Amino acid sequence: MTEQLIIAGERRDAVEGATFTVTEPATGQPLAEVAKASPADVDLAVGLATTAFADGRGTWARTSATLRGRVLYRVAELLREREDLIATAEARGAGHPIGDARWEVGAAAGTFEYYAGAANKHFGSVVPVQDAGLDVVLREPVGPVGLIVPWNFPLLIACWKLAPALACGNPVILKPASLTPLTALLLGDVLVDAGVPADQVYVLPGPGGVIGDALVSDHRTAKISFTGETATGASILKASADHIARVSLELGGKSASIVFADADIAKAATDAPMSVFGNAGQDCCARSRILVQRPAYDEFVEAFVAATKAIVVGDPLDAATEMGPMVSAGQRQTSLDYLEIGTGEGARHVSGGEVPDGPGFYLHPAVVVDVDNSMRIAREEIFGPVASILPFDTEEDAIRISNDSDYGLSGSLWTGSATKAIRVAKSLRTGTLSVNTNRSVRFEAPFGGYKKSGLGRELGMGAMDAYTEVKNVFFSEED
Ligand code: NDP
Repeated sequence: MTEQLIIAGERRDAVEGATFTVTEPATGQPLAEVAKASPADVDLAVGLATTAFADGRGTWARTSATLRGRVLYRVAELLREREDLIATAEARGAGHPIGDARWEVGAAAGTFEYYAGAANKHFGSVVPVQDAGLDVVLREPVGPVGLIVPWNFPLLIACWKLAPALACGNPVILKPASLTPLTALLLGDVLVDAGVPADQVYVLPGPGGVIGDALVSDHRTAKISFTGETATGASILKASADHIARVSLELGGKSASIVFADADIAKAATDAPMSVFGNAGQDCCARSRILVQRPAYDEFVEAFVAATKAIVVGDPLDAATEMGPMVSAGQRQTSLDYLEIGTGEGARHVSGGEVPDGPGFYLHPAVVVDVDNSMRIAREEIFGPVASILPFDTEEDAIRISNDSDYGLSGSLWTGSATKAIRVAKSLRTGTLSVNTNRSVRFEAPFGGYKKSGLGRELGMGAMDAYTEVKNVFFSEED
């Protein structure tokens, strides 16, 4: 059976009838056959979404924000009710351990609950201008939005975009990654079943270079929100330039975790492995550069390696699994290549990096030490389970090394000194920083990157700004 795409809330075949095969990372075998959208489907979807939006006079745009919020609460409820189905699809389709996949469904529901509450709390203002009259600032939905997402957190990242876009009254056209389209389609069904008007909902699996580009280039697409590689983000900026689409970009990272010698080293070292190896290292926030102050370096490395060896790598559907397979053979090969590059550059590969016998795209988490920040493994995003540990001497060194990167997405800081934490936090060029923890993302707070890690911010109330236009209306009181 083919998984059909979603046009105006309805499951249907692609216009040209083409399909493609999705592979299960744990087995390397075909998992599903999925309808493959072409530019004709994009044209159809954007056309219908534009008609449904009707220059802001469409039903969803005009529905009261309170009612829109109620529908989004129902989306959250349905996500929780369908947790088994969706989490299993995410585990099989993306290789996420089932416990993580269940957490992801809960976080997706939490995101919808947040924006359900936000819907009627995001509004304009009255400005005290000098002219006689009333100056009112309105917030209006921007129009059809193209939401392009990667394969590493297929469900959650889609929800970070869908929930605020819908809360603001926009029609949504979701383009999932070709490796992982299954939960995006289930999510599309949830939106319609929850009561989002069918003509607002479109999910188009298909090749990004073809249909992603068609979606971005279409002058009727008012806004693009993209998460993926920096190079793709740059091409999207160019393709959307002619029609001045609103664009937000969440891109790659090469984040640093800085561990000062005055930190709780045992805690930092046991916490750090999953900050790199969570989701098999396929995480834009992965702290893949771990900077450790020299007096604590040996102790940290020993504890880090021990904690890494204890990570349970295995079948994503086994509840005991902490790290599943990588998403594809190609992604695994990239990590293996970087391990070779790193040792070739003089770093020491001290643990992991084995490919186990048997099917699937598994790779044991690898630790490379004595890395220098000039090496390619410290500069380029690997997007796999390879941790680089770098020694440093002074606070100034830590700041300099951490900031010496094209990226600036995330990072951590471990220290027992509050004043040092404040000083260093203020000096780091990164969009998200966690002190004495490695968790990066909270849906109530802004998330995004400095430098080549992105443009704009997702999550928090700020995301509501990103899906609205500002209109200033002045009512004269002169006769
Ligand atoms: P890609 O940039 O390759 O793909 C992301 C999405 O864009 C996919 O849906 C892809 O489709 C589509 N796409 C590809 N080419 C184009 C194009 N020319 N125009 C429009 N859309 C296109 O990224 P990956 O899927 O490989 O994801 C990994 C990357 O995402 C990493 O660099 C990671 O750091 C980053 N990322 C960033 C996050 C953040 O919040 N900052 C969060 C998660 C990941 P298709 O799959 O069909 O190629």
